[in-house]
Amino acid sequence: MNQTMHELSLCDDLIRQVQSLADQHHAQNIGQVTVSLGALSGVEPVLLFQAFEILKVGTAASNARLMVNNVPVRIKCDDCGIEADADPNKLICPACKRLDTQLLSGSEFILSQVELFVAS
Ligand SMILES: [Zn+2]
Repeated sequence: MNQTMHELSLCDDLIRQVQSLADQHHAQNIGQVTVSLGALSGVEPVLLFQAFEILKVGTAASNARLMVNNVPVRIKCDDCGIEADADPNKLICPACKRLDTQLLSGSEFILSQVELFVAS
């Protein structure tokens, strides 16, 4: 898949989510939109910011700012049970050097926070 299209499509979903939250809470304006982005999510932050600026136009999020929280890669070793941060390119247990590890975090792309302004 074309990389830019990937971010555009993710961002389109993101803005839909934000828009529906704004509708639910009868918000007039949206401030900051925060996403959690794992190092293994395959999402390029620069492209995500570009996509956001393009797609927010004409939506409830037209004045919103995008914030990215980088989520580190964490693994759990199937062998010794240790949990540790890992290099995205090297998912090896730091204690026993085995490759039998589970990914605990680092692949996510999720909406974690939206700042809504509701007129009282
Ligand atoms: Zn281990």
